Amino acid sequence: MVETVRYTYRLRPGRTAQVALLAEWGRCRWLWNEAVHQQKTRRKPMFGKLSKMLTEARSRNTWLREGSQVAQQQTLRTYGIALDCSFTVKGRGRPKIKRRKDSLPSLEYTTRGFRIKDGRLCLPGKVAVAVVWSRELPCDPSSVRVYRDNLGHWYASFVVKREAVTPAAADGCVIGIDWGVKTTATTTNTDFDLPHLGHRQRCAAERAKAQRAMARRRRPKGVAPSKGYLRAKRQAARIEKKAARQNTHDARQWAARVVDAHHLIAVEDFKPTFLAKSRMARKAADAAIGACKRELIYRGKRAGRQVVLVPPAYTTMTCSECGARANRRLGLGIRIFDCAACGYSADRDVNAARTILATAERVRASADDVRHSIASFRDSGSDAVRAGNPPDLPVGNR
Ligand SMILES: [Zn+2]
Repeated sequence: MVETVRYTYRLRPGRTAQVALLAEWGRCRWLWNEAVHQQKTRRKPMFGKLSKMLTEARSRNTWLREGSQVAQQQTLRTYGIALDCSFTVKGRGRPKIKRRKDSLPSLEYTTRGFRIKDGRLCLPGKVAVAVVWSRELPCDPSSVRVYRDNLGHWYASFVVKREAVTPAAADGCVIGIDWGVKTTATTTNTDFDLPHLGHRQRCAAERAKAQRAMARRRRPKGVAPSKGYLRAKRQAARIEKKAARQNTHDARQWAARVVDAHHLIAVEDFKPTFLAKSRMARKAADAAIGACKRELIYRGKRAGRQVVLVPPAYTTMTCSECGARANRRLGLGIRIFDCAACGYSADRDVNAARTILATAERVRASADDVRHSIASFRDSGSDAVRAGNPPDLPVGNR
């Protein structure tokens, strides 16, 4: 089986190349904003109309003609996709104006617009950029996105096809996962528990120092920021990014291990900002959980595993042994779950993980990929339901 993936490399553009890339971005940004404007004025052109308008605009304006047609076409294509998603994806807003001061450069080229020569990435307008080839490309890429992050680092993300690595069959191995603050992931199989590593907390002091420097050097509104302010801002962003990368790295390794060994993966459908209402520590936990969940779903789907998302409602109140639901919410301080119906007693998080798994197993027959299911054995009160009962829960997205 062949899969399509992205391979990303760091770029080291020289001064000239950087200027050229930024100029290209300026033109593409103008196009994007023009498309947003067209949408707002109710003319609502689709991609076909937009590219026709691009051809006209290029014949009129020399400055637009100086830029690469491929990059400009791709900008409109990206805009079209963003617009489509704003109609079909829940919670996604319409594409917005990209402002010069806070939008990050991002350019896409198809095979018509780029090539790799002598290890350098050659772009239209005689721009050649050195690439840090940290690993080998599996085949010739079909497109590339060149972008800059908030630290000013440039990257190239190539789209390539490669032979998919199918993991060993793990029939019968199942796992339930509950997210938390102290332990990022509590699982039904203790070998796969992931303790909270606290990357963000560890760098908190350093980041606070940078933020204090920013506060000291902040100038009033409307005045250009000082060099010291920008330096401190960059430092804060760098620390932040380092922690985020450590999170992603841990999440990837953990998710790969979980996906390799399990056939059915039941995950608490945790929403960020669920914990983040109060403290810094919780925000950090949120970020770690978010990264883990994202990686798990992505890798699980790619490996053809069953990933079931279970809403977190009632998972801590439901007994994983008999399915009875407690009448009252379990306070955050209470670490042990005691079932009033059957006397089962376990660690609060372990019980939640087991409940999540049990809920997922009930909808297993119908769940062939990522599905949502309701996190209780039965919707009504606390009367016990035995594990053998047929599933009587609605399967839908909640
Ligand atoms: Zn019980």
